[in-house]
Amino acid sequence: GTASSPAANHADATLERDAPSPALPSRTAPPLVHSILECIGNTPLVRLHNIERSVGLRCHLYAKCEYFNAGGSVKDRIGVRMLVEAERAGRVKPGDTLIEPTSGNTGIGIALVAAARGYRCIITMPEKMSEEKVNILKLLGAEIVRTPTEAAYDSPESHISVARRLNAEIPHSFILDQYRNEDNVLAHYYGTAEEILAQVPDGRVDVLVAGVGTGGTITGCARRFREGGGACTVVGVDPVGSLLAQPDALNEAGVHPYAVEGIGYDFIPQVLDRSVVDWWVKTDDRESFLAARRLMREEGLLVGGSSGSALVGALRAIAQLGWDQEENGKQVVVILPDGCRNYMAKFVSDAWMERQGFLEVPAAPQAWEQYP
Ligand code: PMP
Repeated sequence: GTASSPAANHADATLERDAPSPALPSRTAPPLVHSILECIGNTPLVRLHNIERSVGLRCHLYAKCEYFNAGGSVKDRIGVRMLVEAERAGRVKPGDTLIEPTSGNTGIGIALVAAARGYRCIITMPEKMSEEKVNILKLLGAEIVRTPTEAAYDSPESHISVARRLNAEIPHSFILDQYRNEDNVLAHYYGTAEEILAQVPDGRVDVLVAGVGTGGTITGCARRFREGGGACTVVGVDPVGSLLAQPDALNEAGVHPYAVEGIGYDFIPQVLDRSVVDWWVKTDDRESFLAARRLMREEGLLVGGSSGSALVGALRAIAQLGWDQEENGKQVVVILPDGCRNYMAKFVSDAWMERQGFLEVPAAPQAWEQYP
């Protein structure tokens, strides 16, 4: 029995450290992949037990965590699907130039796919979008053209008009066009929604809550969830300052700038089918960023600002339905579109939040709001 030699001790320690902990669920490693594009989709659905408890919900709240995608957002899904389908149809081939007007995440999705498959990529993007997104796009090899945030979508300076002009000037260039491309919707119909149905208990979604930008996510998911007569209440979240919500009286504040990125527009994108939405919730910057910070603090979910908007939308809908009062087995799914990486110098920073006045407690805070 000379088991106490230094080498043996070291071996024992290693064994102990590497042994599975009975307190942790076993996790099988994903298989080897041959391209990062295989790491788009199949994101986790997480039950928000802590928020259910702290808010006092009597229903079950699930979050689809899209920041687990390779490029960090839900838009990776449409980047890969729009490009692969355009290739299949013979409209583009490696070596061509992809041009896209985007608020950033679609740009990152497309630039990532372009890098992996050998395309030149030009992104046109309003000034308001974060420096973090710009830097990532550059390292993915994309060329970036910034446009004035206040340019109306149909003015010649808008990110959409500039993309069209470049498309006319550059030979072998192509705009995948997330605003009009049906593969935007289908990426969610066949991807996001199908995964959620396989993840949620009983394959049942009673309420879907999603922020709306192009509308691809909400349109594709709503159509899939209602197939075969499934009754799913669909809640769309639209920021104050945008005009996507219905009835139009909800948009009385008019079109004006706001800080949450990726949701809301001053026009109705063609892929957005507003007839799938049962209720619209308007959210403001302050409550959205506070809710995003709460998802970080209480659940450990490192999400972006529009995820906070989606959570606010879910809590309003649940209160409206009375599901914070009576025990029920209802299942609410909320889409969390991206992570906090894009916003490190914005709402993730206490100093930034203070400068915006978002940490001051208002006269009439919402029941679920918490301040540091
Ligand atoms: N949140 C963020 C951060 C986004 O980038 C987007 C995409 N514009 C959305 C929400 C909305 O998704 P969709 O375009 O599918 O409506």
